Amino acid sequence: MSVRVVARIRPLLKKELDKDVIVRAAAAEEGKPFTIVKIPNPKNETEEFSYIFNSVYDQSCTQEDLFNAEVYPHIKALFQGLDVTIFAYGVTGTGKTHTMRGGMKMDDRGLIPRLLSNVFRRGKKIEKDSNGETIVDVHLSYYEIYNDKVYDLLEPPEMRTPMGLPLREKEGKTFVVGLTERPCDDVKDFERLYVEANNNRVTAATKLNAHSSRSHAILRVKVTQTTGDMVLESTASAIDLAGSEDNRRTDNNRDRLVESAAINKSLFVLSQCIDAISRGDKRIPYRESKMTRILSLGQNNGITIMILNLAPMRSYHLDTLSSLNVSSRAKRIEVREIENEVVYKQPHRSHSSTSFSGLTNGVLAPR
Ligand code: ADP
Ligand code: MG
Repeated sequence: MSVRVVARIRPLLKKELDKDVIVRAAAAEEGKPFTIVKIPNPKNETEEFSYIFNSVYDQSCTQEDLFNAEVYPHIKALFQGLDVTIFAYGVTGTGKTHTMRGGMKMDDRGLIPRLLSNVFRRGKKIEKDSNGETIVDVHLSYYEIYNDKVYDLLEPPEMRTPMGLPLREKEGKTFVVGLTERPCDDVKDFERLYVEANNNRVTAATKLNAHSSRSHAILRVKVTQTTGDMVLESTASAIDLAGSEDNRRTDNNRDRLVESAAINKSLFVLSQCIDAISRGDKRIPYRESKMTRILSLGQNNGITIMILNLAPMRSYHLDTLSSLNVSSRAKRIEVREIENEVVYKQPHRSHSSTSFSGLTNGVLAPR
């Protein structure tokens, strides 16, 4: 079992301003790739926290860059029988859905459509190279976990039972009982299913007066390779996690409190599992939440990639820190040398000479 934890800092959106940027990527040594996320200490802005990741991607990273660096290298392993699991973790509005699903334009497509098109391509190649002796089948399941209940997203929302689908154990693995599996032959098939399922997700959330950012969405791609009577099965899972923000701070609605408790618990267990796997522990606490149970995180021989999505702005400061604390491998505190932060290259933002924090005297700007 191997795990990579990487961070992706999204670019500013149209209404967002350079002067509000407080998060940045850095390298351990000049000329090396980025592995560090830096953010001011909100209690003392002359200090800066550094969080260390396996890799850090800044606003210049394209969808293609991220796919090529973090997912493409594992497609071969998937076809060799390893399970691949990709999580997008972070506060709502930081780019999880953009990273996983992306936009409709070819360049904007996220990791999921790129994964699928590469799986189909490799599957077809394997079939061809084996002169038809090996058959590759791809099946999709797509479900969400909301308030610790499992709902099938390939079924229309009116078919849902409020209890959700039950889990069952078989040969040490956990299954969702009654989950739809649809065969999928090409990218067109996939896109049709995926769009339909995502619409189901939004409709179901609206009915509950909730938002789809309050549930975890899990896409499972099952790859079956059959050669004579030999069958090799492996799974790629792509998970767009619920927003990691602490809603208790801002929203006292009772339903939101129940949601927050369920989300916080499952995200906490997830981070504990990731930690345990990366330390090489024997005991992985995967049984303590439904999500980690279903994914058998730490149980099977596989590859896990956790992408921490970050928005660079001050308005996310505390939530960003808490997601960094949960997901990073290590933290360092440094006293900032404010002089080094001064940037004069772009005269249009000259009124704020500190490039990343936008503050001059260590005082937190009002939210
Ligand atoms: P989340 O799913 O974490 O709530 P979204 O994926 O919906 O966040 O992203 C919030 C907004 O930021 C969206 O408008 C999205 O298009 C935009 N966005 C996120 N990441 C990027 C990126 N890397 N490049 C361009 N726009 C992005
Ligand atoms: Mg989202």
